[in-house]
Amino acid sequence: MQYYSTQKQAPEATLEEAVVKGLAADKGLFMPRTINSLPPSFFEGMASLSFQEIAYRVADAFFGEDVPADTLKQIVYDTLSFDVPLVPVTDRIYSLELFHGPTLAFKDVGGRFMARLLGYFIRKEGKKQVNVLVATSGDTGSAVANGFLGVEGIHVYVLYPKGKVSEIQEKQFTTLGQNITALEVDGTFDDCQALVKSAFMDEELNRHMQLTSANSINVARFLPQAFYYFYAYAQLQRQQPGVRPVVCVPSGNFGNITAGLFGKVMGLPIRRFIAANNRNDIFYQYLQTGEYNPRPSVATIANAMDVGNPSNFARVLDLYGHSHEAIKAEVSGATYTDAQIAETMRNTWAQHHYLLDPHGACGFRALAEGLAQDEVGIFLETAHPAKFKDTVEQIIGEPVVIPEKLQAFMRGTKQSIPMTKEFADFKAYLMKE
Ligand SMILES: *Cc1c(COP(=O)(O)O)cnc(C)c1O
Repeated sequence: MQYYSTQKQAPEATLEEAVVKGLAADKGLFMPRTINSLPPSFFEGMASLSFQEIAYRVADAFFGEDVPADTLKQIVYDTLSFDVPLVPVTDRIYSLELFHGPTLAFKDVGGRFMARLLGYFIRKEGKKQVNVLVATSGDTGSAVANGFLGVEGIHVYVLYPKGKVSEIQEKQFTTLGQNITALEVDGTFDDCQALVKSAFMDEELNRHMQLTSANSINVARFLPQAFYYFYAYAQLQRQQPGVRPVVCVPSGNFGNITAGLFGKVMGLPIRRFIAANNRNDIFYQYLQTGEYNPRPSVATIANAMDVGNPSNFARVLDLYGHSHEAIKAEVSGATYTDAQIAETMRNTWAQHHYLLDPHGACGFRALAEGLAQDEVGIFLETAHPAKFKDTVEQIIGEPVVIPEKLQAFMRGTKQSIPMTKEFADFKAYLMKE
């Protein structure tokens, strides 16, 4: 499969080039030249297939030309070592629980898949070690570090701002050991990001070691997110045969929902989509006005969606030929304040005894308000509520039980290397690695 850039100013790339580079040379996002459809027989028989079986068929449609079947199957099966159950919250609204992976958030799926695919390319090319640099303000670091943990041929350096991430977040990437090194930078998140950028531009350092990034716009992180839309539909067929659901996605950078839109293009019978925003409602405004006006993000309690210029908007535009009408026909929007998010969490807990996290709450509310009489909805519950323990406890006024998986991280011993925010120090450290 060839991948073109949404900017159309860069040459097409192979899958391997797209994965290693992340972003096209013209700063555009890579798109597969064709999106292969799956046959009706696949959808008819899907209710009896496992998550891994379904995901492999979808992965084959994306990557089958570029990765041998047995390798691709292994990558898919290793990636999806956890379930993504579809849980009814009301008689017409289901939660697709994407928080049963190692770091209890949906980013585990893309992170794990990308790590394994990159590992395959490294082995195939006989490359010596590849080093992934990732700056994090909290959640990306844990998904990437845990995704790459133990993958041969790759070493991950996580740079995070000292004293500015929560204890739970810090433990998720400082206790792993093996091929993961945490660098505790005496500075801000922006300082961490600046160190990573300088490293990519430093010639001497790049001669010394092969560097790459595990950016969230990478096709190897982005496309695998389609897997669970298919599995959600399969599970719904077991409970409500023949229903075409409305799917609602709490959205920030719009990678997750765009993968769902790809699924529909491949034939998945989804009726329509809703993109749920917090107060950062740039996409919502675009739907209303046809004008895209990025602006600085504001902080909310659904902080993984605090995005003022959604990076995957370029992919949405490209997928629908830049037609506002076509996009509006497929996707509607919703936007909620912190007070509305909190109210939704409280009410859903009181009425249905279902504990939402602040992101999933936007999704649930958009369905509760937006479903027509005859519609059934699925929202993506993108993270476990315990990841936002303090916020959630304050809102529902009850203690939140921390799942064993998170507790295990908490018991681990933090290991990190102190680092200044000076590039010279960071470079000197890497040159000795
Ligand atoms: C990253 C994230 C989102 C937003 O996903 P996008 O793909 O950026 O739209 C939503 N919820 C949680 C919990 C996240 O971590």
